[in-house]
Amino acid sequence: MWYGQDPHYALRFTHYDMSSDPQIQEIKDKLDLVELISEYVTLNRSGNYFKARCPFHQEKTPSFMVSPDRDRWHCFGCSEGGDGFTFLQKIEGLDFPEALSALAQRTGVVLKKRSPQDKKQADALQRVYNCLFDAASVYQIILRDADGAQEARAYVESRGVNKDTQAAFMVGFAPEKWDVLYQTLSKRGYDVSDLLKAGLVIKSDRGGFYDRFRDRIMFPIFDHHGRVVGFTGRMLHNTQKGGKYVNTPQTPVFDKSRLLYGLDRAAQSIRKAGKAIIVEGQMDVIASHQAGIENTVASSGTALGEAQLKLLKRYATKLKMAFDTDEAGQKAARRGIELALSLGFEVFVIELKGDDGKDPDDCISKSVEVWKQRVDEAIPFVQWAINMAVTNFDIASARGKKQAADDVMGLIVKIPSVIEQDHWMRSLSSRLSIALDVLRSEYGNKVAVKASRQTQKTEKRSSAKKNPFVLLLALFVRLDLDKALLDEFDEQFYPQALHPLVKFVKTGYTDDTTIEISNVLLMRVELAYPSFSTEQLHDEFSDVREYCSKQLLQRRIASIAHHIRDAEARGDNDRVAQLLEVYTSLREKSGA
Ligand SMILES: [Zn+2]
Repeated sequence: MWYGQDPHYALRFTHYDMSSDPQIQEIKDKLDLVELISEYVTLNRSGNYFKARCPFHQEKTPSFMVSPDRDRWHCFGCSEGGDGFTFLQKIEGLDFPEALSALAQRTGVVLKKRSPQDKKQADALQRVYNCLFDAASVYQIILRDADGAQEARAYVESRGVNKDTQAAFMVGFAPEKWDVLYQTLSKRGYDVSDLLKAGLVIKSDRGGFYDRFRDRIMFPIFDHHGRVVGFTGRMLHNTQKGGKYVNTPQTPVFDKSRLLYGLDRAAQSIRKAGKAIIVEGQMDVIASHQAGIENTVASSGTALGEAQLKLLKRYATKLKMAFDTDEAGQKAARRGIELALSLGFEVFVIELKGDDGKDPDDCISKSVEVWKQRVDEAIPFVQWAINMAVTNFDIASARGKKQAADDVMGLIVKIPSVIEQDHWMRSLSSRLSIALDVLRSEYGNKVAVKASRQTQKTEKRSSAKKNPFVLLLALFVRLDLDKALLDEFDEQFYPQALHPLVKFVKTGYTDDTTIEISNVLLMRVELAYPSFSTEQLHDEFSDVREYCSKQLLQRRIASIAHHIRDAEARGDNDRVAQLLEVYTSLREKSGA
């Protein structure tokens, strides 16, 4: 295999499911692919295409393309591609039936031909969503109107949550009774099995059922589609058993590791601002939104996990985090921050000072302006960690210096960019009065390994992106050239992995799959040469062909040099002489 060529490159063209299901076709016809994709990435028009930075791999220059005419997207950096279904599946982590049902709903197509089992499963899930939403409404109405809820209302008001915000976040109240919700929802026709599945009721030892949440202020938790998937209940009176907060347990629709509180309302402003503010508690989110700072979400008390970060990555690459900066809070936050750094996020720390308040909610209730200022002043996390290390360790001592360096270098090695690593190592070197060379030699291995892995990745990507042989074939298809031109090269001219593609280009377009391949090739040309005239493209074809020939020659020279070394090692002098002759003539041909 040559120059890190991805052997699956050509084969991936054939992955599309060209299903002939008329309902799928109907959805495809009605679906606006550009509209769907632009909910996740910022698309820029480029001729008949749209371009973006790929949401599926990290890249600086856009190689992700969408063709509305062909109803296709394709990334020339990571070779992912497909239609609206594959896009949604990949970006939302859905399986095909889930994507089908999401897009059916989006396009208003009523699915008829689902298998009875699929339908049963989908209906069951829908009932769980329905009863969670109904539960949220019941709690909301109780908080707003019920006679027994004065104290709860007073509490919510004392926390500064106004009526509009209460309505927007569906804040509610579960009274101190055993089965208010169970009775209400049963009367609305929900089966107790649905209520159990939704995590709303609990089966008692004596076989009866009772409400999970009692005497609690209820905060519904929405997924990023805005569906109620669970609740956090905060106790109203300190007397009762159970923790200050009770959450919905893991259910078929409630998976804490994939949720960010407030994201359904924050997504658009996060995208607009290019950054997300991450706070700890639900009240912090609610207060922040009420104060007009809407790009705020909460991780709900846990360290940020990979699924949550990947969700955020769709909208922004800068995170401003307000976490408890005491030692325990820092420790809890650190794992998530390391993960964020390693995923290429820029992470900043929002620091509350002196009498700003104990958390964002507290700070906002004192002064929105102070909170905004603290958000603006947020400093890079590594900077903050250096400051902390200098304070926490006795850096006048050799041991303290070593501990401080270990602490911060543990973060720096997580950063994927070598340039950023270098920047922070310089900063650390001057703060700790350790020579940069010494830091490099002490931690060099870790930094270097990380760095070389990064470079390798980048190289592999750009070689796939700039793969001249694919480009040559793409130009061939785009210009609809005479296939005699291709016959000038024998099959060995092309990398092995491209042989199926060459064969296709030579035989032409016959069915859905091959039309698909030509579509991808056409997008490839558009990416490389946006708005080139046909004449210019012909020139490019000649250039690329020449470049490919040179590549071929170089490969042959390298291969012969290899055989010469082998023959020498065996002491086969005749063979060496023979090969040297070929070698010399090839070198001459190549002009070297
Ligand atoms: Zn990609």
